[in-house]
Amino acid sequence: MTTTRRVFYEDSYLNELDATVTTVDGRWIELDRTIFYPEGGGQPGDTGRIEAASGTYNVTDTRKGDAPGSIKHELDDPGHGLAAGDAVRLHIDWDRRYRHMRMHTGMHLLGSLIPVPVTGGSVGEQKSRLDFDVGDLVLDKEQLTARINELIAAAHPVEFGSISEAELDERPELVRTMSVQPPRGAGDIRTVRVLDVDYQPCGGTHVNNTSEIGRVHVSKIENKGKRNRRVHLVFDEPT
Ligand SMILES: [Zn+2]
Repeated sequence: MTTTRRVFYEDSYLNELDATVTTVDGRWIELDRTIFYPEGGGQPGDTGRIEAASGTYNVTDTRKGDAPGSIKHELDDPGHGLAAGDAVRLHIDWDRRYRHMRMHTGMHLLGSLIPVPVTGGSVGEQKSRLDFDVGDLVLDKEQLTARINELIAAAHPVEFGSISEAELDERPELVRTMSVQPPRGAGDIRTVRVLDVDYQPCGGTHVNNTSEIGRVHVSKIENKGKRNRRVHLVFDEPT
């Protein structure tokens, strides 16, 4: 129906927000604004809860809505009492989301160390993976682990901007991932720059400085065919 204001881009660290329900479709509700990140670009949708006068409801998933620019939130309670116009307070599951932000930023660092096309990937709370079309490039687990931790410890600032679709068409080298193209037709495309390390269009949520990621290691490099390798990244700290 309407475009949902993406407050998670204005401040990725915001974990509470007041909003208004705009659309209700069974267990799926839309809001005028949200801090819940919708699944996309390999990053899972946020979970959390929505507080209203009629009760508090758990949000089990967040997805892009059917209309361009809209976002829908899945409630676990099919008998929820929410209706369009209701004032609500949003709370995201911050521990989970912050881990996604740290991991997602770590994926950019990993990508910067392996200068070949990315063919897929997924971000998780404890482990993530990126798939590379490596060609003849040989990857070394220990070397990658050492280099990514150097980048993390170097405390590179992460900056956000935008690029027009026309500008992006002129610089196709910016799009590293062949499988996850940035969404088109919605105006400017968000960009993420890890200062001195990596610059690319990306719609995920990220931390503001690589030092926030904490220590990680490459746990496994899987052979996924002649040219393809799947690189698994995990946090050093236990879950
Ligand atoms: Zn990203």
